[in-house]
Amino acid sequence: MEDWKILITGGAGFIGSAVVRHILKDTAHRVINVDKLTYAGNLDSLRSVSDDTRYLFIQEDICNLKAMEDIFFKYKPNAVMHLAAESHVDRSIDRPIDFINTNIIGTFTLLEVACKYYDKLNSKEKSQFRFHHVSTDEVFGDLAAKDPPFTEESSYNPSSPYASSKASSDHLVRAWARTYGLPILITNCSNNYGQNQFPEKLIPNTIIKALQGNLIPIYGDGTQVRDWLHVEDHARALLRVISDGVVGDTYNIGGLNERKNIELVRDICRILEQLAPEKPFGVKEYSDLITFVQDRPGHDTRYAINALKINKNLGWTPIETIETGLFKTVKWYLGNRWWWENILSGEYAANRNGV
Ligand code: NAD
Repeated sequence: MEDWKILITGGAGFIGSAVVRHILKDTAHRVINVDKLTYAGNLDSLRSVSDDTRYLFIQEDICNLKAMEDIFFKYKPNAVMHLAAESHVDRSIDRPIDFINTNIIGTFTLLEVACKYYDKLNSKEKSQFRFHHVSTDEVFGDLAAKDPPFTEESSYNPSSPYASSKASSDHLVRAWARTYGLPILITNCSNNYGQNQFPEKLIPNTIIKALQGNLIPIYGDGTQVRDWLHVEDHARALLRVISDGVVGDTYNIGGLNERKNIELVRDICRILEQLAPEKPFGVKEYSDLITFVQDRPGHDTRYAINALKINKNLGWTPIETIETGLFKTVKWYLGNRWWWENILSGEYAANRNGV
C-alpha cells in the first residue's frame, strides 16, 4: 500500500487525531479528516499536521448522506477508517439519542455511500479499497474475574447504550460485507489512554482534578478492571490492520495491561508526586483527594482482550507498558496545560465556531 488517500472519520477526536498524526508522520499517505466537531472533536490536537499538504480537514456530519457522497466522489479515497462516534458511556446513559444517531445511523449512512462509491471503482481500485470500522471491546459485555479474555469469537452482550450502539454498528458493517460485498475490516479494542483525551475520561479527569486540588471521583469501590491500551500503540495497530489485514476479518486489540480503576488512579497520584511535587494549597498527598462515588448504572466489572490474532497474523504488539504509558501521559498533561485549560474554560468551544 503506497501513497493512499485515506478518509478518516472522527479524526479530530482522541484516537482519530493520534491516527492522523501517525499516518502523516510514518507513511506517504494522504489523509482526509471528516469530523463534525462535536464537544469531543478538537482541532488543537492536530496543530502539528494542520499545514501538511497531505492533510485536509472537512467539517461534516457522517449522518449527512448527500454531503458524504460529495466527499467520496470528489476526493476518491482508497480506504476509509471509520472512527467517528459518540464515545462516552455516562453521556449515553443520560442522552442515548446522539449515540443512536451517530453510531448507528451514521455508520449506516457511511456504508451506503461507501457501497455506491465502491460499485463505481474499476477492478484494480476495488481490490485495494477497504472500509475499516473501529469498534470497542464493550460490545462483548463484561467478564468475571477468572474468565478468559475476549477473543474475536466472543459473543456480543453489550451493557450500556454506548456499547449496544457500537454492537449495532458492527452488525451493520458485517451485513454490508456479506450482502453487498463491501471489503470491510473490523477492530475491537480495549480502553485507550494517552495525550489529547477529553477531560471527562478516567485518566485525564484524575490528572486534572489532582492538579486542581479537587476531589478525584471513583465509581463504586473502584475494583472494575480495564485492559489499558496506549493510543499510539492503537494507532499503529489500526494502520497495520488496514494495510495487511485480511478482508472480512475482525481483530481484537488490547494493551495486555489489566488494572483495577483504583490501582490506576493511585498510580497516577504516585507519578504526580514525582512530576508535580508542588501541590495545590491544602493538599498533602494527591491520593488524599480520592473519593468513592455512587456507581454507574449497569457498570461493567471487567474487560480483557486476547490480542493473539493480531500479534500472530500481523506482527503487532504494544510497545508501552502501563507504567511507561502512564508516565508519558501524565507528563503530557503537565506540559500541555493550555490544551485542556482551553477546553475547561470554554475558550476552545467559543473560538472554533469560525472553523
Ligand atoms: P472521541 O469521542 O474522542 O472522538 C469522536 C470524534 O468523532 C470527535 O472528533 C467527534 O467530533 C466526531 N464525531 C462525533 N459524531 C460525529 C458525526 N456525527 N459526524 C462526524 N464526526 C463525528 O472518541 P475516541 O475515544 O477517539 O474514539 C474513537 C473511536 O474508537 C470510536 O468509534 C469509539 O467507539 C472507539 N473506541 C474508543 C475507545 C476509547 O477508549 N476511547 C475504546 C474502544 C473503541
